[in-house]
Amino acid sequence: MSSFDAVVFDLDYTLAVTDRDRQALLDDATERAGAHDIERAAYLDAHGTVAATETRAPIFERLVTDDTDPDELAMAYRLAIEDALVPVDGVPGLLADLHESYRVGLLTDGPIAAQRDKLRTLDWAGLFDAVVITGSLPTGKPDERAFAAVCDDLDVDRAGTVYVGDRPAVDVEGAADAGLATVQVLYPGGPESHAAADAVVDRDELVARLPEILPTL
Ligand SMILES: [Mg+2]
Repeated sequence: MSSFDAVVFDLDYTLAVTDRDRQALLDDATERAGAHDIERAAYLDAHGTVAATETRAPIFERLVTDDTDPDELAMAYRLAIEDALVPVDGVPGLLADLHESYRVGLLTDGPIAAQRDKLRTLDWAGLFDAVVITGSLPTGKPDERAFAAVCDDLDVDRAGTVYVGDRPAVDVEGAADAGLATVQVLYPGGPESHAAADAVVDRDELVARLPEILPTL
């Protein structure tokens, strides 16, 4: 038996991936919206400096230098991502299995509309006891308030909760600092494992191995 009451997952690159790289998705979006090219690095810079809570339009507003409508470009980027979104095999079965022993939550960073669309595309919204999209909060991960919000929604203690995510500083360090146990998901070409991770698992083995990893934490 595990000593934990809840398992909370990150979404992007943990439970779902895009089957094209992000620059290709940006190129798709700028083409759809008739905008000039935008480099991924510039997008990430803008992403880090602009508060985008509802949609990505405020990010694109920083980036477009022609008369492209940022709302239209944000929508085009959402559609490009949705078209390319691929679930990790076996996730609904894993979540059903975990439900027998745990409360199951999702904590994902990003604008509300973008992350809701992904859940709708995946048809996963009903698979979680709680879903927190940090666009609805004052801050995202790694701020401890993000982790506290999902634990509150699940009505569980942070110490009784395991967070499963891929990003070292945001997911692993953030969750550990907030008092949760952590499992880091690794994948080819992805970030290195973080020393604060209580366990690591290859994404290809997540579905098969997570139920047996949880009781060992
Ligand atoms: Mg992620």
